Amino acid sequence: MSFQNPVFIPGPTNIPEVLRKACDMPTIDHRSPLFGSILHPARDGVRQVLKSASAEVFIFPATGTGGWETALTNTLSAGDKVLAARNGMFSHRWIDMCQRHNLEVEVVETHWGDGLPAERYAEILKADSNHRIKAVLATHNETATGVVSDIGAVRRALDDAGHPALLFVDGVSSIGSMDFRFDDWGVDVAVTGSQKGFMLPAGLAIVGFSERAMAATKTASLPRTFFDVHDMAQGYANSAYPYTPSVGLLNGLNQACTMLLSEGLDAVFARHTRIANGVRAAVSAWGLDLCATSPNVYSNTVSAICTPEGFNATDIVTHAAETYGVAFGVGLGEVAGKVFRIGHLGSLTDVMMLSGIATAEMCMADLGFDITLGSGVAAAQDVYRTAPATLIKDAA
Ligand SMILES: *Cc1c(COP(=O)(O)O)cnc(C)c1O
Repeated sequence: MSFQNPVFIPGPTNIPEVLRKACDMPTIDHRSPLFGSILHPARDGVRQVLKSASAEVFIFPATGTGGWETALTNTLSAGDKVLAARNGMFSHRWIDMCQRHNLEVEVVETHWGDGLPAERYAEILKADSNHRIKAVLATHNETATGVVSDIGAVRRALDDAGHPALLFVDGVSSIGSMDFRFDDWGVDVAVTGSQKGFMLPAGLAIVGFSERAMAATKTASLPRTFFDVHDMAQGYANSAYPYTPSVGLLNGLNQACTMLLSEGLDAVFARHTRIANGVRAAVSAWGLDLCATSPNVYSNTVSAICTPEGFNATDIVTHAAETYGVAFGVGLGEVAGKVFRIGHLGSLTDVMMLSGIATAEMCMADLGFDITLGSGVAAAQDVYRTAPATLIKDAA
């Protein structure tokens, strides 16, 4: 591995210099007013990135997985029914967590490569006339397969059925890199972590709660202590935590929000679209297919690329690390060995991406794939030369 090369894994993502410095702080008293001047702007910044006017933002010393647990344990009780689709490793793990909390999960098995089946959700919700389903789980961006789902369509499924279930969205690999609309989509709990779109080291679970989700906490009886949002809210009212906060990471989060908001969310999303279009042009020039089955579900933050029959996709990842000091993502679960993943979220430029595409090409040629060196790079160059580019001023 080389510390000079960017990583092309779908999280943790590359950390901009300015954010590394922001995380590197001397110890401060986390019960002093100085801490409030970090905490409150960080929460405001997250709320804006979520595109919400009023979401309650809570930030735990944890990771995205802790955010899932925060969503479930604060709003549900043992035996409650939830609806979820399994279309990749991350939706699978969230379902597994529900089951371990003694929730009853109605699982819609979905082909790995397809998006969330909003029509199936609609049918199930309509049939649930006595409203046993208390929450609908949706993985906005399935990082294992490079598939984005239409959360607006899930909201419409709920509304069309007149169903009161809460809508929980895993936005761990979308928030901060792809459009996410907490208020417009009527999201009740949004979950993310610090190490993806927010470009920081792992260590923060970041969640937004709607007013309805906050109301559900009053009757929810699943056990919770560390992740109790009321304890956290009480702490926040005094500019403090119920325990010791990760001050450096929170300072980094505050800066990360400033970076994203000063670039402009639309510009951030356009940058990720352009970078992803370049990757997809390269994949097509290589004659390979994405795991994502159709353009309307192509993710702008991660591409899972199917390797031809007879090639183990994981070999590409191993070879890239050993030979070129570059990290790509391996296939997970059902698609292990069948896909390798190029992560293109967080802090990334066209130029960085070209180096990743060139490296993937070298690896495939080294391993005997039938591809022409330079073909993917040239296809991506065409995209990057012609698509409108907004030059990012280096905040460092
Ligand atoms: C990375 C990821 C997670 C898990 O987050 P951790 O921070 O590793 O706990 C959950 N969901 C999705 C979609 C992810 O990409």
